[in-house]
Amino acid sequence: MLVSPSDPEGSSGAFGLERRDLAGVGYRPIMVRYMSYLVLARKWRPKNFSEVIGQQHVLRALINGLDQDRLHHAFLFAGTRGVGKTTLARILAKSLNCEQGVSSTPCGECQSCQEVDAGRFVDLIEVDAASRTKVDDTRELLDNVQYAPSRGRYKVYLIDEVHMLSTSSFNALLKTLEEPPPHVKFLFATTDPQKLPVTILSRCLQFNLRRLDVTQISGHLANILQQESVEFEQEALTEIARAADGSMRDALSLLDQAISFGAGTVHCEHVNQMLGTLSQQQLHTLISALVTNDGPSVLEQSYELAAQGRDFTKVLNDLLAMLQRIATLQLVPDLDHSDDTDHEQLTLVSQQLSPEMVQLFYQIALHGKRDLPYAADPKSGFEMTLLRMLSFQPKQIDQKEAIPTAIVDSAKKPVKINQPVSVKGTEYQQNTGESKRTDQHAQGIAEPKPTKIVVTEATGSDKPQLNASNWLNIISNLKLTALTRQLADNSAFIAYKGEKITLNITPELAHLVSEKAQQRLESVLGKYLEQTIKIIFQQNTVQEQSTATLAAERSEQTNINQQRATDSIHNDPAIDAMRQAFGARVIESTIKPLT
Ligand SMILES: [Zn+2]
Repeated sequence: MLVSPSDPEGSSGAFGLERRDLAGVGYRPIMVRYMSYLVLARKWRPKNFSEVIGQQHVLRALINGLDQDRLHHAFLFAGTRGVGKTTLARILAKSLNCEQGVSSTPCGECQSCQEVDAGRFVDLIEVDAASRTKVDDTRELLDNVQYAPSRGRYKVYLIDEVHMLSTSSFNALLKTLEEPPPHVKFLFATTDPQKLPVTILSRCLQFNLRRLDVTQISGHLANILQQESVEFEQEALTEIARAADGSMRDALSLLDQAISFGAGTVHCEHVNQMLGTLSQQQLHTLISALVTNDGPSVLEQSYELAAQGRDFTKVLNDLLAMLQRIATLQLVPDLDHSDDTDHEQLTLVSQQLSPEMVQLFYQIALHGKRDLPYAADPKSGFEMTLLRMLSFQPKQIDQKEAIPTAIVDSAKKPVKINQPVSVKGTEYQQNTGESKRTDQHAQGIAEPKPTKIVVTEATGSDKPQLNASNWLNIISNLKLTALTRQLADNSAFIAYKGEKITLNITPELAHLVSEKAQQRLESVLGKYLEQTIKIIFQQNTVQEQSTATLAAERSEQTNINQQRATDSIHNDPAIDAMRQAFGARVIESTIKPLT
C-alpha cells in the first residue's frame, strides 16, 4: 500500500530558485514577481491555530484538548472541499510533536515543526480513501498503527473521504478504534458522513466544518494582498469570494489567477472578465433600466454585452443571483448584508420594485435561460427575456411604446390597447398597470405552449430511433451551441442506416458545414443514438428537399402566430369600436404575437 507522508509541496520549487538567482544579479524582471504569487495557497496556509479562518468551534475543541492534554483519539471532520481539513491535521500533528512539548502553540522552529510545515513529516500520514478502499490496504495501514512513531510522540493519520472505505475496511478500522494505541490520533474527513457506519461514528468526535462565508473569505484575501503589497479593489475580492462558494482554497487559487490576469493588480474589471461574470455596476445599470421601464437603455445594455462577447447564459445567471439578493433584502431585511459592497444601490432597487415583480422577473429570467438554446441566437433570446420583463412592468398609458400588443393610432394621440388578445386559445392581458395580475402572467409563462412538432415515441425497442418523423423533435432537444445549433436547425433528414446519417443542407447554407460543427453534431447524435455516427451532407435545393428543417418549421410557426395575432386584433370588437368612434386605425407593423 502506498502510504505516503503528506505532499512535499512546501519544498522550494522552481520559482524560489529562479528568484534567488535573479536577486543575486540585482535584477528581478516583473514576470518573476507574478510567479511568486502563483503559490498563495501554499504560502498563506495557516501554520498555527490562530491563523485559521473560521471553524472556531473545531479550533476551540482542539485547543482545549491539547492544552489540557486530554485530546480525543479520533476526530471526524465533515465538510466540503477546501475548508481546511488538511490544514487542521497538519497543525494538530505539529502541536502533538513539537519538540518543545505538546501544546496548542507549537514553536514552529524545531525540526519536527519545520518538517510538518514542509509537508515531509513521516508521522503525519495522509490517505485518500477514495483510491484505497480494499481491505488489504486498510490492514496494512492498521498493521503499521501498532508501531511507535518514528520521529515524534504521536502518529497522526488523516484519512480523507473516509466514507469510501469498504465494509471490511471499516471492520478492520473499528478494531483499532476500539482499542487505539496511545500514540495514535485519527483525523477522518468526509463530505458524506451519512455513509459512515454508526459503529465508527460513535467512536469519533464529530465536527461539521462550515463553508466560509463571503466576508470571511474576502477579508482574508484583503489581508493577504495588503501584506503582499498588491493593489486591489474590495469589490473584486467580493466577486472572487462569491465564486469560491465557501472554499478558501478555491478563493486563493482564483486570487492567484486574478493577479496574473490583472498583471499584478486585482481589479473588478479583470476579475469579472476572468470569471466571465458581469460587474455589479453593469448589472445595476441593467436592472435599473428594467425598473424604470427604459426600453432603449435595456436594448443598449444587451447590445453592449453582445459586443463584449458575453455568454448570455452566464449573464442570466448573474441576473438571477442579483434578483435573489434583491428578494432577500426585501423579505429578510434584518439579515446582515454588510458584505454587499453595493448595498445602497441594492436597497434602492428593492424599494422601487415590488416583491411580486422581483419574483416574476426571476421566473422570466429562469425561463429565458432554459429557452436560450432554442432562440434564433443567444442575443435575441436574451433580449426577448428582457423585453418580456418590460412587457409585464406597470406603465403609463401615454408612455413611449415598449412592446405593445398593438398601437391604435387615433386622431389625437396613440392609445394603448389593453384588451385581452386571444392567441392560440390563451388569453393574456398586458400592461394593465396592476401588479396583482402578475400571478396570472406568471402562470402564463410557466407553461409555454408546446410547438406543433410531432413527437414520435420509439416503441418496442430500447435503442433510440432516428427517422424522418422524429428528426425535428430530437434535434430541437439536443444540447447544442452556436454554429452546431445552426447547422442542425438547417439540416433536413434523409436517411439513417448503420453508422451513417444522411442530411440535406441547401447550397446557400452549405457554409454552415464546418469540420468542427459537423464533428460536434456527430458526437452529440452519437451519444444520443448510443453508437458512432458519421454524417454525410447532400446539397439539394429547398424544392428538392423532401423533409423540413427545424429552422423552416420555426419560421412557418412564426408566420402562423403573426397571422393569428393580426386576425385577433382585427376581429376585436373593442378595436372596432375605437375605429368607429375615433376614426382610429391599427398600425399593422406593431402587431406582435404573444408567445
Ligand atoms: Zn516545534
